[in-house]
Amino acid sequence: MLLEQRIQEIQNNIARSCNKSHRDVSQITLLAVSKTVDLEGVAAAAEFGLTHFGENKAQELCRKAKVFPALDWHFIGSLQTNKVKDVLPHVRCIHSLDRISLAEEIQKRAKGRTIQCFLEVNVANEASKAGLGLTEVLPFIQTLEAYPSLEVSGLMTIAPLTQNPESSRHVFRALREKQLEIQALGYHWAPVKELSMGMTGDYTVAIEEGATIIRIGTGIFGPRNYNK
Ligand SMILES: *Cc1c(COP(=O)(O)O)cnc(C)c1O
Repeated sequence: MLLEQRIQEIQNNIARSCNKSHRDVSQITLLAVSKTVDLEGVAAAAEFGLTHFGENKAQELCRKAKVFPALDWHFIGSLQTNKVKDVLPHVRCIHSLDRISLAEEIQKRAKGRTIQCFLEVNVANEASKAGLGLTEVLPFIQTLEAYPSLEVSGLMTIAPLTQNPESSRHVFRALREKQLEIQALGYHWAPVKELSMGMTGDYTVAIEEGATIIRIGTGIFGPRNYNK
């Protein structure tokens, strides 16, 4: 299938899920996960109207963001503290804040900017995954009051890998409930308006459960080739 058809199909699915859950498509940001995709692929997706791109490796993000500075770049992978200074000038937001040492480094390198951060939450407590446990989210956010260059824009999760997107529903719902709990506290440094959840296999369910940013790689670009 051509890139344009894949993007069209995703946009149709977004519209259908929004319809089903009485949401407006304008509430959903399609984040194109371009890891392993070459510059031509990024250019082609941008040509079809995509403006938000996500990368999970610092070097790859910097390389692509320098070529396409007008696109909105999001860092979505585990971020080493020593890479923060390289990544920050290029990104709109970081989806993978999961520890105070990272917050400290972001604060140190922000240079007066406000960096939009998402807390990565390991909702299903998978040993293989990074992220805070659900019960750690609130105390972590309270600590972040002392880091004025960070804004807690939202929560992010990666649901367990499964063939059946319905089995991710309870994960997405739990993240949404955590979002509501935090929003109710009205912390000025943690508006938590966004929910970054849903990937190629489960984004329709994520939208039904309140996602505002869906992160889609293979659904847009086709299978990844890690050997290039
Ligand atoms: C790779 C990746 C995605 C996209 O995965 P697909 O299944 O290809 O859509 C989304 N989020 C994160 C954090 C990723 O690393």
